[in-house]
Amino acid sequence: MRRPLVAGNWKMHGSGAEAGRLIGELIAINAGGGPAEVVVCPPFVYLAEAGQRLRGNALLLGAQDVCAEEIGAHTGEVSASMLADVGCRFVIVGHSERRALYGEDDALVARKFVAVQRQGLVPILCVGESLEERERGATHEIVSRQLTAVLGMAGVAGFGAAVVAYEPVWAIGTGRTATPAQAQEVHSLIRGRIAEKDATIAASLRVLYGGSVKASNAAELFAKPDVDGGLIGGASLKADEFGRICAAVRK
Ligand code: PEP
Repeated sequence: MRRPLVAGNWKMHGSGAEAGRLIGELIAINAGGGPAEVVVCPPFVYLAEAGQRLRGNALLLGAQDVCAEEIGAHTGEVSASMLADVGCRFVIVGHSERRALYGEDDALVARKFVAVQRQGLVPILCVGESLEERERGATHEIVSRQLTAVLGMAGVAGFGAAVVAYEPVWAIGTGRTATPAQAQEVHSLIRGRIAEKDATIAASLRVLYGGSVKASNAAELFAKPDVDGGLIGGASLKADEFGRICAAVRK
């Protein structure tokens, strides 16, 4: 049985006061107390305080990105061991905004994936196609290529302690959600690619859907057999909405 997982990616939103308020509201509604494992990913600078407040709470902490290097002269970067130090358990790698706006290629994403696991943290590997790629029928090719890069560096064993998030770029922050059938099709492809290497690991791998998930559409997406939860952007910034998404996972 795969335990569903819902992760909130706060991106670069809010202030320290707002981050503190949101954490407080999520604790108050016991967001991590349901059937799903629930993770919040605040901006780097708010992680340490969030980590202290969440100590002992079922709500878990994640980061939005990480440096591929472990230590040294990398001005402005944050290492996986630093994230572990402040209480992170999960780290998003390869988000499409990192790939598109900050030039992260498949090889760098794979190195980040490995760096995260080296510290005992769980990478949430984002994959997904752009609108242009979908329209020319290249979705499977793109998603397979993104997975292959990580398989090449981490091996299939790496997927035994990882989460994959299918995030079609055209659905992120656009209000345009993939249909449950579209999501299921790609999730099944992802699980199938891992199953080619190791069927047991594939069967236990959690594959999240991300892209304009809201409380009103979460249940129908989460009802699909290969959709094991969601990576939530905009809707994770409101405790009530995020709590209702967490409650929408199948029991
Ligand atoms: C995301 O950024 O990972 C995301 C899914 O954003 P949104 O839910 O706002 O589309």
